[in-house]
Amino acid sequence: MPRIVVDEDLCQGHAMCSLEAPDVFEVPKHGTVQLIGDITASHLEAVRLAVRHCPTGALALEED
Ligand code: SF4
Repeated sequence: MPRIVVDEDLCQGHAMCSLEAPDVFEVPKHGTVQLIGDITASHLEAVRLAVRHCPTGALALEED
């Protein structure tokens, strides 16, 4: 499975990622994204969407 890389300096807490993949991303009210779960095959497509839709480009996937 790919690995999620977060650039915390870029994250502005928009929470688009947690809308796309709530089992993997959690965004506190006043904070930056936290990873709360591993990527599984069933999450992978949602995680790819989250990475694509992050408005600040704070997320990336490191492929194996
Ligand atoms: S969508 Fe991007 S900017 Fe927004 S909380 Fe997620 S990682 Fe941060």
